[in-house]
Parts: sequence; structure tokens; C-alpha cells
Amino acid sequence: MDVGFIGLGQMGKAIAANLVRAGHRLIVWNRSAGPAEELARLGAEAAAHPRDTARAEVLMTMLADDEAARSVLLEQGVLDGARRGLVHVNLATVSVRFAQDLARVHRERGIAYVAAPVFGRPEVAREAKLNVLVAGESSAVSRVEPLLEAFAQRIWPLGSEPERANVVKLAGNFMIASALETMGEAVALARAYGIEGARLLEILTSTLFASPVYQGYGRLIAEQRFEPAAFPVRLGLKDVRLALQAGEAAHVPMPFGSVVRDSLLEAIAAGEADLDWAAVARVALRHAGLR
Ligand code: NAP
Repeated sequence: MDVGFIGLGQMGKAIAANLVRAGHRLIVWNRSAGPAEELARLGAEAAAHPRDTARAEVLMTMLADDEAARSVLLEQGVLDGARRGLVHVNLATVSVRFAQDLARVHRERGIAYVAAPVFGRPEVAREAKLNVLVAGESSAVSRVEPLLEAFAQRIWPLGSEPERANVVKLAGNFMIASALETMGEAVALARAYGIEGARLLEILTSTLFASPVYQGYGRLIAEQRFEPAAFPVRLGLKDVRLALQAGEAAHVPMPFGSVVRDSLLEAIAAGEADLDWAAVARVALRHAGLR
């Protein structure tokens, strides 16, 4: 299939490379030139302007946040220059409100809009094992499924309103952030009584909490290994803030979300914005006078 792809950050680069490997013809654009040149070496075409990508049959975007997507899709005219019948698949974690706005803007232009945010970090994307949450008009979803299969372990359909996929994605990241917060507090408690954090996490993640989130992030916390950041604190704060906003819009209190938001803010104030968001566990240690 002819696919336009915008946004070749850690996630986008891995996904686009898998699409090329699966035999699709990609035309790619990224704000900074380096990643597009890397993809060109794999066989993709590098576009001179983001608008050029919207002449394909399907456009995929994996931009950092609402602001980046607004800037590229709307202000730089990508949607205005889109070919008739285009399906746009937005893989990024954006706000529920923006997902609703995007659905409307696409409808007005006769472009199909599919939200397909993903669970899985960059290494999971490289292995083509992402869990893809997908929502949008069913005919558009069916058309893009063969593309999603090129990088998905499993595709989870969530109905025809795109924002539903974003709600599930934000709920998931809120739960990961909460797990990071509780692991940080539990490690601080153990350390205050002379028990190594690594030992506590080894016991808990082998027994009561033997699941991917606790085991994967527990290892990072036990080893205090927060660089290189697969998902930085600044993006984690974005997602918890988006979950709180979505809750507020629907009158859903999320008191624990507010606690976690403040811990992420505190990590940023301590100069840790670009560390992996598992570093938020250190906030609880500092509160307890520990390092
Ligand atoms: P990233 O490595 O920081 O990449 C961000 C991408 O957005 C880059 O291509 C960047 O371009 C582009 N960008 C940022 N601001 C822009 C602007 N104003 N105009 C144009 N382009 C702009 O982030 P990532 O980890 O790939 O994450 C991308 C999305 O996936 C986010 O929504 C994130 O929440 C979500 N996600 C991430 C993970 C993860 O573990 N990392 C997992 C699941 C979902 P430049 O290269 O020029 O900076």
C-alpha cells in the first residue's frame, strides 16, 4: 500500500521501518531531517514537505502531542492538501478533546479518521509487538488493518468514535503512572527499614505483582536505570494531565491522578524531565530523606 508517514521519533521510526519491511511503499516526513534520511536508507522516500505525505492512500502520524499534531496537520496544511479518500491513522497519544476535534475536522474535509494509539515502548515497536487500540468508522479501520498488522501483536477494536481508543490509552498510562508511584513509596518504606529496594521489588514482582508493568519498570527502579529514556517524564506528565482533563470533562474525579501528576511535576522541577518516567519513583525516596 502507498503510505505517508509523519513523525519519526523513537516510536514512529520503529513503526515506519516495520511497514517498509512488510513491503509497503512509504513516503516519510519528520521535522528534523536525520530520521527521514535513516528511513530513506531502508527504502522509504523522504518527502520535501509534510503535505506530500497526504497524497498516499493512507497517512499515518506519530507526533509527540496535540500541539505538534495541530501544527503539522492543520497549520502546515497537510489535511487541506489531502487526496480524496485518504484515511488518516493517528498513532499518537493525544487528548480526548483533540481526538474529538480531529474527527470533526476530518469529516468536514471528507477524510476518514482512525485513532490507533499503542501500548508498548520503542523496543516493543521494533519487535512489531505493539498492542494497538483502534477506533473509527469500520470501513476505514478494515482498510488500514493490514498496515496495523505490520507492527501489532494484537489489534483491539473499540468502536466507531475515535476518542474511545484515546480514553483507553490514557486510562492505561494513568495506571502505569500509579504503579510507578506506589513502587517508589514501597521502596522508600523498605529502605527506611534497611531492606534493599531491589530485594523488595524482586519479591513483589515475582509473586503478587508478576505482570509486565511491575516487572519491566520494577527492574528499572531496582537498578536506578533511567537513561536512555524510552518514555520520558515530560511525556508521562502529558498523559496523566490528559487523563485528568478527560476525567474532568466527564465529571469523573481521579484523586490518585492528581497525586501522580504532582510527583511527575516534582521530578521535572528536580531536572529529571528527560529521564525515563520510572524516575518518578525517586520522588518518594527524596520525601523520605533517602537517595
Ligand atoms: P519522540 O521520540 O519525542 O518523537 C516525537 C516526534 O514528534 C518526533 O518526530 C518529533 O520531531 C515530532 N515533533 C515534536 N514536536 C513537533 C512539532 N512542533 N512539529 C513537528 N514535529 C514535532 O516521542 P515518541 O516516544 O516517539 O512518542 C510519540 C507519541 O507516541 C507520543 O504521543 C507518545 O505519548 C506516544 N507513545 C510513546 C511511547 C514510548 O514508550 N515512547 C509508547 C506509546 C506511545 P523531531 O524528531 O524533529 O523532534
